[in-house]
Amino acid sequence: KTFAEIDLGERVNNNIKRCKYVKPTPIQRHAIPIAMAGRDLMACAQTGSGKTAAFCFPIISGVLKNRCSQSNPRFTRTVFPSALILSPTRELAGQIYEEAKKFSFQTGVKIVVAYGGAPISQQFRNLERGVDILVATPGRLVDMIDRGRVSLGMIKHLAIDEADRMLDMGFEPQIRRIVEQMDMPKPGARQTMLFSATFPSEIQRLASDFLSNYIFVAV
Ligand code: AMP
Repeated sequence: KTFAEIDLGERVNNNIKRCKYVKPTPIQRHAIPIAMAGRDLMACAQTGSGKTAAFCFPIISGVLKNRCSQSNPRFTRTVFPSALILSPTRELAGQIYEEAKKFSFQTGVKIVVAYGGAPISQQFRNLERGVDILVATPGRLVDMIDRGRVSLGMIKHLAIDEADRMLDMGFEPQIRRIVEQMDMPKPGARQTMLFSATFPSEIQRLASDFLSNYIFVAV
C-alpha cells in the first residue's frame, strides 16, 4: 500500500512527497489506517521505525478535517489545542515538533512545542499565536495547565510517545493527571495512541486505563 492509497488527504500527501517518503514503513502501514478509522491504538515500535510519522500523519489529517474554526475565545489567555503529543524528553519533543512542522507545511495547522529547561515565557508567547497541535513534555504541560494557560478540554487526538521511557523517568503521576483533564468534559470523545518500545505490565495497565477498545500493533 502506498501513502496515496491510505487517503490522508491531498495536503498531507503533498508534504509526504516533499519529504521524499516513497512507501510507508511497517509501523506506518499498520498504524495509520487504524488511526484514520478513528480507533485507539497501542503500538510497539522502536526509534527509527518511522513511528513519529505514524502518529503525526493521522493527527494532522484529523485536525484539517475538523477545522470548524472554533478559534480560541479572545477574553481568556487559555489556549485549547485539539491535539496533544506527549514526549518524555525535550530532545524528543524538539524532534517531533520539527517533523510535524514539515508534515503540516502550508496547511495552516499550528504546532507549538513546550518543554522544561527553557523559559516558559517564550513558550506562552508561542501559544498566544494559536495552537492546534501541542507537543509537550509532561512536567512543563502540567505547569501550564496549573497556571491556567492550557486547557485540554478540546483535545480530540492524544499521542503518547515512548511511554515506557516516560514511566522509567517517573512521569506516571503527571501523565495520569494530564489524561484526567481530558476525561472531564466528555469521556470517550478523544482518540488515543500509545507508543512504546516495550510492552511490560505497567504499559499494559496504562493501555487499559487510557485507551478504549484499542487495536494492538507490534512491528
Ligand atoms: P522515527 O522512527 O519516527 O524517529 O523515524 C526515523 C527516520 O525515518 C526519520 O528520519 C524519518 O524522517 C524517516 N522516515 C519515516 N518514515 C519514512 C518513510 N516512509 N520513508 C522514508 N523515511 C522515513
